[in-house]
Amino acid sequence: MAVTTLKRQSNISDAEWETRCNLAALYRILDKLRMTDLIYTHMSARVPGEPGHFLINRYGEFFNEITASSLVKMDYDGNVIGETGNFNDAGFTIHSGVLMARPDANCVMHLHTRSSVAVSAQKCGLRPISQQSLLVLGSLGYHDYDVASGNLDEREVLGRDCAKADCIILRNHGLLTIGKSIQETFKKMYFLETACQIQTAAGDGELIEVPEPVLSKSIARYKAKFDDGTYGDLEWEGIIRTLDREGADYRN
Ligand SMILES: [Zn+2]
Repeated sequence: MAVTTLKRQSNISDAEWETRCNLAALYRILDKLRMTDLIYTHMSARVPGEPGHFLINRYGEFFNEITASSLVKMDYDGNVIGETGNFNDAGFTIHSGVLMARPDANCVMHLHTRSSVAVSAQKCGLRPISQQSLLVLGSLGYHDYDVASGNLDEREVLGRDCAKADCIILRNHGLLTIGKSIQETFKKMYFLETACQIQTAAGDGELIEVPEPVLSKSIARYKAKFDDGTYGDLEWEGIIRTLDREGADYRN
């Protein structure tokens, strides 16, 4: 369906359409960065001006196929709003749980990259061995593995674990990041995932951890940047330029 046709027929607001385009762009850049797991991970964004509604990928689409109009609009009860569309049950549980628990958040990302699953299985958790790790350690949390996040009880537990952290390592499972905007959430995920890649590449030998007091000062300084209101904006402009220059059809 053509973009203008979908917008006209569905009475999609300009703000929702912009969010749809940015969320579709998020899937596309994740595909380029190979942060994918076939069809089994998901990103969501709140619909501006529609409390209780959020957008998520249609189950079955690869990240390089997702477009603004193919995203599914849902509510917290699991109802699809407007256009029909399949969604992943675990995706609904995770994203509705986090968005309900975090009214300040507008975007949630969830990935299963190999490096992140590897670090999620390490008892030590994310170690302060790289600058990338310092960027996220100030807002890092953990969530224990559950039965594939498939029931609503899990929403409450996950919501509690996400209450005070924006970067979550899901034990034996992967990563989750939370932010006020798509670009902010992406930047947190980029550094969290990169920190996991570095930790797995470094191996389990004797490693140099950033010592105190530099460690605490660095973590506090980087954490403060999360709240400046522009976190990730500059990088996001470059991502959009890249996708547009390559002719990616994510705006369809
Ligand atoms: Zn998962």
